Amino acid sequence: MAEQGSLDFAVRYPFSPSAKDAITDIAVNERIIILARNRIMKSLMNDSSGRMLIHEADKKEDIASFAVARMILGILRNNYLTNTFAVNESKMMHHFLNREDEATALEVSTIFGIVPKPKAGAKPVEDILELDLPSYLRCCPRSPAYRLINRRLVHGMVEIKSDEWKRLVEEAARKHIERIPIVKDPPEELKEAGKKILETLPKTDNSKLEAIKVEDHPPCVAKLLDNLAKHENLPHQARWFLAAYFLSLNTSEADIVKIFSGAPDYSEKVTSYQVAHIKKKGYSVPSCATVLGYGLCVADCRIGSPLAWHRLGRQRKEEIRK
Ligand code: SF4
Repeated sequence: MAEQGSLDFAVRYPFSPSAKDAITDIAVNERIIILARNRIMKSLMNDSSGRMLIHEADKKEDIASFAVARMILGILRNNYLTNTFAVNESKMMHHFLNREDEATALEVSTIFGIVPKPKAGAKPVEDILELDLPSYLRCCPRSPAYRLINRRLVHGMVEIKSDEWKRLVEEAARKHIERIPIVKDPPEELKEAGKKILETLPKTDNSKLEAIKVEDHPPCVAKLLDNLAKHENLPHQARWFLAAYFLSLNTSEADIVKIFSGAPDYSEKVTSYQVAHIKKKGYSVPSCATVLGYGLCVADCRIGSPLAWHRLGRQRKEEIRK
């Protein structure tokens, strides 16, 4: 019988080595496949609540459902499902992490090689930790607050607060979960479960994406639209840039919100608020130099601003795209 404490830990962190150990005596059965399917469906509803489990058998099945869910995703190879699942599972993990004592949080963090230390000389109340630069870069979220230019870096150590530490762990977990294994010769039951998920997949509203001709826009914008069509996550600056760009072309707020409907963490409410906020603030479209600084420039157009694309002739556009 598995030790209850470590089994509960494995339920909360099903990607951990303890989780692997906890299910060595478990065979995949119909119930686990249903749980795995439900786990994927739950991510489509942005439901990151945990389940209350009492019995050891239920806990083991729950852990196994995570592994089987990844197998089903490995069969489907669907970016939208994989990214949505990874986002939801890592969010769920973050909720658990917030309730852990420091030693347990550190145990989880260490799984991803993130081992922050209290900053030398800092008072506990200051809540400042230090993390080595390679670990920081490996798992820092793609939002402006985490850009290195906005951080304090001392002797190769990046200063972070404890809530930022947990956000880094969430990001590391997301990236880990996203690396879905390739499943060779999958059992029929798993293929069937995958089919059922595809049947219930909510239809994302890509009508606006279809209406927007990608070739009408500069390469940086075309690339981001392509990423959204593949249901890939966009960094904060990319979302902001796209919204400001389309606002400047007088695209309606409602249509801009639809453009983002392919994002794995899409929420109509949040996106509407953000687009309205960008419009209210009247942000202008960043220059090519700024877009380059964001790491989003993908061609050498030499036009100064992505908006200048619309003044170029067809031949020049084709030359740039080559
Ligand atoms: S040069 Fe400007 S317009 Fe062209 S891809 Fe880069 S940022 Fe976009």
